[in-house]
Amino acid sequence: MSDMATASSPLIHPGEWHIHYDYAVGEIAERFFTELRDNATIYALRCPSCKLVFVPPRAYCERCFVRTTDWVKIGPEGVIEAFTIVYEPFDGLPVPPYAVAYVTLDGASTALANFVTDVDLSDPEQASAALAIGNRVIVDFVDERKGLITDFHYRLL
Ligand SMILES: [Zn+2]
Repeated sequence: MSDMATASSPLIHPGEWHIHYDYAVGEIAERFFTELRDNATIYALRCPSCKLVFVPPRAYCERCFVRTTDWVKIGPEGVIEAFTIVYEPFDGLPVPPYAVAYVTLDGASTALANFVTDVDLSDPEQASAALAIGNRVIVDFVDERKGLITDFHYRLL
């Protein structure tokens, strides 16, 4: 072997990818997003065996491995399971600061992430207290819906 093969640190080149692509969301996600857009309603899929209610809806139960078949309306209120407050900019995301929470909507077994609006984020400690795990939120739909997850956001109750 040559001396180069035993170098102690790898050779690193800087890289950056900016990729835009369009894709078909599939049968299950299409119904979910269409209901958001056309009816301002959040639908989940319930497992016919264990009765877990998945949102975003999933075609198969991850526990029972059976096809989920029962569409159910969930929300519009729910409980915060986790949250983050973003104070630094990221490509493709809103100008900070903003808050994102995982919320288990009433009637669901899983949590769904989305932005939380109407929270004063100027003081991180106060904002964290307002967004505390266990606090309740309600879904607010935007007026001009596009069939995207940003068709709604959460607001603290
Ligand atoms: Zn199941």
